[in-house]
Amino acid sequence: MSILKLHDLYFKPFISKAEIHAIVKHLAEQVKHDLPKDEVPIFVGILNGCFLFAADFIREFNGDCEVSFVKLASYEGTSSTDNVKQLVGINEDLTNRTVIILEDIIDTGNTLQEIYNIFRNQNVKQLKVVSLFFKPDVFRKELPIDYIGKSIEDKFIVGYGLDYNGLGRNYPEIYQLSTAPKMKNIV
Ligand code: 5GP
Repeated sequence: MSILKLHDLYFKPFISKAEIHAIVKHLAEQVKHDLPKDEVPIFVGILNGCFLFAADFIREFNGDCEVSFVKLASYEGTSSTDNVKQLVGINEDLTNRTVIILEDIIDTGNTLQEIYNIFRNQNVKQLKVVSLFFKPDVFRKELPIDYIGKSIEDKFIVGYGLDYNGLGRNYPEIYQLSTAPKMKNIV
């Protein structure tokens, strides 16, 4: 792993492919362990950032499940905004289903709050949240996050599905912004 340059910014190696794999495997094992034996959950991945995580998680879960994806565009540049937009993508009837949300990263929690409220109003049997990464220093909600892969400091990361203005999603590792982000000057 070496320094990445994406657009105008530099990112340094932060979490290796092997560590990500171990985190994802552990999350999938925990979720499986906590579900009743014959329960067939529906995993709902939050696009775009979760596409690699969801693919790996579901394979590690290695059990009967349904998979769907939703999209809620709320993020630009390196700073989360408060303007959360519309949820698109889910067509399944979630009545009496165990719905497990797969998030790439939870920052302020704004995105999750929107999605959580929508699903909670659909008569689901239970609603759980799995997040690969979590930034506890910026999280501002009362929401339950049932499974957290790794808590990280409040620095912008890219790789493994996460982008900086469209670039970086393809890297199998995670990279961290190498200088202190000055949000207003970056975008
Ligand atoms: P929140 O609504 O919790 O503030 O932000 C959640 C979404 O913002 C994530 O799903 C992700 O798309 C994006 N996000 C939050 N933090 C980061 C980060 O450090 N790097 C990247 N690339 N995206 C982030």
